[in-house]
Amino acid sequence: MPIYEYRCQDCERVSSFFVRSIGNEVTAVCSHCGSSEMARRMSSFATAKSVASVHEQFAPGSEHRSPEYYQDPRNIGRNVEAAFQKYGMEMPPSVRDNIDAARQGETPKGLDL
Ligand SMILES: [Zn+2]
Repeated sequence: MPIYEYRCQDCERVSSFFVRSIGNEVTAVCSHCGSSEMARRMSSFATAKSVASVHEQFAPGSEHRSPEYYQDPRNIGRNVEAAFQKYGMEMPPSVRDNIDAARQGETPKGLDL
């Protein structure tokens, strides 16, 4: 089940909300201060492994891919990018950075063999 994280604009703490399916909006209210000034952020992009698991949840069409798919770093984040586009969501810079970092983590640049 997807989890959306929202950062409160007032107290800057993060609240998590389960959604039944991708594309459903949730009414986000800060669980700490009750503010409705919430900005969505995506969770679990910190590592390539979690990016892959996000793929499983967010992949358009939800076609199952083999683990080998994710061993090609060029595929890391590809479906995430597509999912953001599909649902008209703006990809936060932090997500962009994490995808790029994950890709580079798999294939260190400057390693000319
Ligand atoms: Zn708050």
